[in-house]
Amino acid sequence: MKAIIVGGGIGGLTAAVAFHQRGWQVEVLERAPEFTEVGAGLVVQPNGLRALDTLGLGDPLRAKGLSDPLPGIRHKSGGWLTRIDVDDLKRRFGQWVTEHRADLVDLLRAGVPEDSLRPGTEVRQVRTDGTVIHNNGTSTGDLVVGADGVRSVTRRSIWPHAPAPRYVGYTTWRLIAPPQPIEGHRETWGSGERFGYQPLPDGRVYCYMIVNAPAGSRGDLTDLRERFADWHDPIPALLNSVPEDAVVQHDSYELPNLSTYVAGKIALLGDAAHAMTPNLGQGACQALEDAVTLATVVDTLGVPAGLEAYDHARRPRTQMIVRRSRQFGTTAHWTSATLTALRDVVLPRLPESFIDRSLAPAYTWTI
Ligand SMILES: Cc1cc2nc3c(=O)[nH]c(=O)nc-3n(C[C@H](O)[C@H](O)[C@H](O)COP(=O)(O)OP(=O)(O)OC[C@H]3O[C@@H](n4cnc5c(N)ncnc54)[C@H](O)[C@@H]3O)c2cc1C
Repeated sequence: MKAIIVGGGIGGLTAAVAFHQRGWQVEVLERAPEFTEVGAGLVVQPNGLRALDTLGLGDPLRAKGLSDPLPGIRHKSGGWLTRIDVDDLKRRFGQWVTEHRADLVDLLRAGVPEDSLRPGTEVRQVRTDGTVIHNNGTSTGDLVVGADGVRSVTRRSIWPHAPAPRYVGYTTWRLIAPPQPIEGHRETWGSGERFGYQPLPDGRVYCYMIVNAPAGSRGDLTDLRERFADWHDPIPALLNSVPEDAVVQHDSYELPNLSTYVAGKIALLGDAAHAMTPNLGQGACQALEDAVTLATVVDTLGVPAGLEAYDHARRPRTQMIVRRSRQFGTTAHWTSATLTALRDVVLPRLPESFIDRSLAPAYTWTI
């Protein structure tokens, strides 16, 4: 049996490892000249680690160093808006890991035979019979996995009338700062703007900024230094410690709910199926869950029964997480002085059980 995988990001490579481990031939078509990821960190939460465990890849990631979940949200002056008991979270749900994205990609890539990887291959069209047309010719498989991200050509080929991704009103910047002492994972909210930072296992510091802005508006490090100059320590120092070209910017898009993730010999996974806001840090974790579930059910039940089982297992869950992720970010991006003042009074008084109800469903997944 052969699986053609369109896209060699975290979702596509995980699918490739999962099918390869089950004895399938795999071919990963990636348009970029090499398999790598943007210069940023990635939090793999307990559910994502559990998915990697099914492939024997959870422990190699844990061995590099565990991290703590976000212990709450701070105000730009430094005071706490909410607190979460991280020890309780870890006891109930498992471990967290924060990695450089490229390290996770390298780990996954090592689990796929080198001759299955086809970088520099841009897919142009996909058909339900398992034919994939690309710049280097045509590939055919018993299954085609569309793991080609939010602007998926697979999705547009098979469902030309599916709703387009929707800009959610905020843009993100990410960077890796040189090693420096910081307390742990922190996130701070202002008015329509957020700053998060957390240490990587080697001491470098992954930083992310999420700011309300019209789609397509650009900003560089100088703008960011100005914007966050009066935020609590160590935020200004982190921004001052990186060179001008260290920052990558992406606008945030969310995919409106699709009515199915499967058709004929095709399955969508990851951002191609359910691109979501970054608010819960669950996009890649859901892609990991998708990939191992898909390989399990299709290998066991075949096509089409396995694809139906995949759609049934994954669509309700991932669409619920897309919705929760959007809701979780809403209050962070209020700009009205009245609403943010109200938020700053109400948030510290929210019972922990309220926050727990938003987060727990994401963490408790098992295959
Ligand atoms: C600021 C920010 C922070 C985030 N933090 C987290 C986090 O901490 N934890 C978490 O779990 N998630 C996080 N996410 C979400 C996560 O990054 C994504 O959900 C995840 O990377 C999606 O993986 P994917 O493989 O589905 O898609 P992608 O990473 O988009 O990969 C798609 C691949 O397909 C390739 N491709 C596209 N079109 C074609 C084509 N036509 N032919 C061939 N190849 C093609 C692309 O080059 C790419 O390599 C964050 C997102 C943002 C924006």
